[in-house]
Amino acid sequence: MSANEPAGQPSPLRYPFPAPPARGRLLEVGPGVFWIRMPLPYALDHINLWALADGPGWTLVDTGLHVPLTLEVWAELFAHWPDARPITRVIATHMHADHVGLAGWFAEHHGCRLWMSRLDYLNSRLTVAEAGDPPSAVARAFYRRCGWGDEALDAYPRGRSRYASQFYRLPESYRRLQDGEELAIGAQRWRVIVGTGHSPEHVCLYCAELALFISGDQVLPRITSNVSTYASEPEADPLADWYASLAKLRLAVPDEVLVLPSHNVCFYGLHARLEQLRDSADEALASLRRRLRQPARVIDTFAALFARPIPESDPSLLRMATGEALSHLNWLLRRGEIHCHLDEHGIAWYRLAPEAGERPAAAFPDVTV
Ligand SMILES: [Zn+2]
Repeated sequence: MSANEPAGQPSPLRYPFPAPPARGRLLEVGPGVFWIRMPLPYALDHINLWALADGPGWTLVDTGLHVPLTLEVWAELFAHWPDARPITRVIATHMHADHVGLAGWFAEHHGCRLWMSRLDYLNSRLTVAEAGDPPSAVARAFYRRCGWGDEALDAYPRGRSRYASQFYRLPESYRRLQDGEELAIGAQRWRVIVGTGHSPEHVCLYCAELALFISGDQVLPRITSNVSTYASEPEADPLADWYASLAKLRLAVPDEVLVLPSHNVCFYGLHARLEQLRDSADEALASLRRRLRQPARVIDTFAALFARPIPESDPSLLRMATGEALSHLNWLLRRGEIHCHLDEHGIAWYRLAPEAGERPAAAFPDVTV
């Protein structure tokens, strides 16, 4: 994720709350809708969770990571919970550990059901199931093609295991959420709107009556969401999904809503933000085209795409930056704007296509590892 709010001009976004809730406390942002701030042990140091009054119980939207700190903060939250009703349902917006990491714990300890999109549920379960597997030769070849050095390649399996450990074992059964479905939560109806690009089937929730929109990681006010390509599907084009999703949300959700995002703070100005996010993706592609006047490996494109340096010594940042750079490269490659060839060491080099319309080479021919 990268910071990208335009500097030097008044922001079209408005932030109605002077500060997020304190650690271990809930802040009511709409009737029966509470904001929870959960710490994360990353550079992005928090996630927002939402508790929705739901008849005889509470629905929780997202959970935080499965790490000791999260359980500590949950104990503080329960000590300040608005009433004695139990948590009866957990909705996970998507598959990432900071969102769904503790869902299995809630299922086991509070007896609640997990509601989630099918693709994101299956992906999270796969992440956990693969945790004990030996280091993957396919992933190693994939990141070597992107230009990673031996030190980063050697560190990758440890990073993968650490990430998987941030999921509590997921429930073996869940309730599927689908695009367009209406959920009754308390007295209100919330519509499921599935976004794409950041995860395969990211659930957002829109309540027309309360004019609230739980956007998850699909719309964030001050940073852009990671749009990544992974070793399991190296030719993926998630940036096309991301663009489609921005356009879909603009049509599906009115501008007047208060947006409840998973990171940063609640805001008004949804449509302006969707436009900023589209412009930001356009600018990243334009910057990449300029960089690719000269041949470049995936890792050589970072300076054109990200404001901050991406050190090889930070494996998780390196993995996210690589995935995001590759998504932009794949977008250009699919549209015939750039070429890619593998050198004798199996490293992919990209450059602008010399003639428009010329057929691009395959970026990832079947590899022998
Ligand atoms: Zn996410």
